[in-house]
Amino acid sequence: MPELPDVEAIKQSIAPQILGHRFSGVTLHWPRAVCCPSPEEFCSRLVGRTIEELARRGKYLILRLSGGEVLIIHLKMSGSLTVKPEYAADRFARTVFHFEGGTELTFSDQRKLGMMWLVKDENTVVGKLGPEPLDAGFTREVLAQRLKRHNGPIKPLLYDQSFVAGIGNIYADEILFEAGIHPLSKANELSEQEVARLHRAIRQVLPRATQRLGLSLNEYRVPFGELEANQWLLRLPRFAGKPCPLCATPIERIPIRKRGTYFCPNCQRQS
Ligand SMILES: [Zn+2]
Repeated sequence: MPELPDVEAIKQSIAPQILGHRFSGVTLHWPRAVCCPSPEEFCSRLVGRTIEELARRGKYLILRLSGGEVLIIHLKMSGSLTVKPEYAADRFARTVFHFEGGTELTFSDQRKLGMMWLVKDENTVVGKLGPEPLDAGFTREVLAQRLKRHNGPIKPLLYDQSFVAGIGNIYADEILFEAGIHPLSKANELSEQEVARLHRAIRQVLPRATQRLGLSLNEYRVPFGELEANQWLLRLPRFAGKPCPLCATPIERIPIRKRGTYFCPNCQRQS
């Protein structure tokens, strides 16, 4: 599933190509992706609007349009967005946004789980998300205070979108590996040093992955649905038995709340 780095890299990649463009039409091959308003109103309200700003909140891509309209897109499991002159060859193209001048933005989504909203107030969609992990306000102290309220394991908390926005299963593992914290460690029992390492890891892992994804987007289209195969983005091997890159101990895989969790039993000890 695309996480913060994927959505941020897509945003940075498509922004220069669609900023300032005016919608001339929308082709909906999968109208059920439109959560609100109706598919017909979605199309009619978009036409004539200009894209004034691109933003991201958690895993949501936000396009602020003229006239106070906001187009919000969630890529879910397999979605991707590309700007290209021709979409006919893409059999997974579910939505094509047409712009005056011929530019097209294609929302491809093999599994048809992606979602779109056209709203006046973006908080109706993203208002309940936790803080942005890369914002200046997300300090080590803020993280420490939020951790104190939870006595469950740290791993599921990291991908809980109301705790902090944008992190999913894969980057939760990567961040905990970078921080040297066992995924089952209790959130409210992390030491001051562990919280500091966790905060630093969040701030290192997410921008590093964004940068690497951005470089690759310039070269070819990243299969976001197959991120687990994109081992080049991650330091922690997502294969049980592979040697840890730091200490060569075999990586272990355990289920935590039914999600596959990878970690190094030597570098990430439970305190
Ligand atoms: Zn290790």
